[in-house]
Amino acid sequence: MTSQTLIPQTTPSVAEDAFQPAVFDQHVMATYSRFPIAMERGEGTRLWDSEGKEYLDFVAGIATCTLGHCHPAMVAAASAQIRKLQHVSNLYYIPEQGALAQWLTDHSCADRVFFCNSGAEANEGAIKLARKYGHTELGIEAPIVITATSSFHGRTLATVTATGQPKYQKNFNPLMPGFYYVPYNNIDALRMAIEELDADKRQVAAVLLEPMQGEGGVCPGNPVYFKQVRQLCDELGILLILDEVQVGMGRTGNLWGYQTVGVEPDVFTSAKGLGGGIPIGAILTKQHCDVLRPGEHGSTFGGNPFVCGVSMSVCQTLEQDDVLANVRSRGKQLRKGLRAIAQKHSNLCEGVRGWGLINGLVLKPDTGVVALDIVKAALSEGLLVIPAGAQVVRLIPPLIVSDVDVAEALVLIDRALVAVSK
Ligand code: PLP
Repeated sequence: MTSQTLIPQTTPSVAEDAFQPAVFDQHVMATYSRFPIAMERGEGTRLWDSEGKEYLDFVAGIATCTLGHCHPAMVAAASAQIRKLQHVSNLYYIPEQGALAQWLTDHSCADRVFFCNSGAEANEGAIKLARKYGHTELGIEAPIVITATSSFHGRTLATVTATGQPKYQKNFNPLMPGFYYVPYNNIDALRMAIEELDADKRQVAAVLLEPMQGEGGVCPGNPVYFKQVRQLCDELGILLILDEVQVGMGRTGNLWGYQTVGVEPDVFTSAKGLGGGIPIGAILTKQHCDVLRPGEHGSTFGGNPFVCGVSMSVCQTLEQDDVLANVRSRGKQLRKGLRAIAQKHSNLCEGVRGWGLINGLVLKPDTGVVALDIVKAALSEGLLVIPAGAQVVRLIPPLIVSDVDVAEALVLIDRALVAVSK
């Protein structure tokens, strides 16, 4: 048998039953409320379900499929890498990991990268880094990381504690010690919190913020606030950590959200769009806070040849195809159209907010219509969108979305609003 005959030409078959929601639910834990459809195939900004219905995808796997579905560059990189080498562990040097880290440090303010598998894992590692920095560089016994209310940082115990939304924490007590919450975009609240926490002895080691709160309702960070936070962190010698998991990798129209709010963090995290749909996360740090040493942090899969090879194809395509220019112009087109829709449906809509290709249609409270109603109506019309809380319909298409796609999405959103108004 030659090695060629061992390579199947199609993906492994999935039992027919797996596509029946009832059978699926018998075997998979009920941690998600799923829409009763199963996606079978994708191409660009389009998805097709198991019934053959076509959807225009303005969810992109929750801000993850940077280049849409089955982009030729990703297909080529994934095919080439899986035929060459998929995994070896971090016991050995991994050239693909080094190349990706170099691309990331060449294209950001960071000096070093640690690779892991998800956004939560990246934030978890950044929190560990902040705690060690607190211990070894600031002499703090029990370091505190300050985060914002309405933030979202992940589902592990530390990151769900960092997440300033009680709804995600309910039933998971005891939460992790070492976190404190302040309102977002409010410098006085942050100053007061640090004064209080540090009054008797030094405790605060870091401030962890999203450049824009995505899950918290598509709330952009205020550049003035971020500059003041940066200044305060510099005065105190504490770390500014930015969670770029949702808005990094081009989504705001800049490669990194920190460029959009106009500050450089000491540490930032990335995941989602970094892999374009393959599981990868990263902690990116400046040299002065690169404090984790052998044995202190790790990940079996982190930075393996396969994910790094594919992620590199996403990074290179972003650059070669000037995808960021597309993000900026399609974002403008989308916001202009959404504003007109918000005006037309002013009985339901309050307005529009966002940057680049992360935008929210904000609903008025107490109209009897919530974001999920519009998401469901849009789904029937063949458009995938996602709520960000009860009052915001979030539109986060692949960054390669075309003007024709945006125009079509606007027609479908309008139809969905008409449908829920009836
Ligand atoms: N941080 C932010 C800002 C996010 O939006 C998310 C996910 O939505 C996470 C962290 C968690 O990422 P993951 O689901 O990959 O663990």
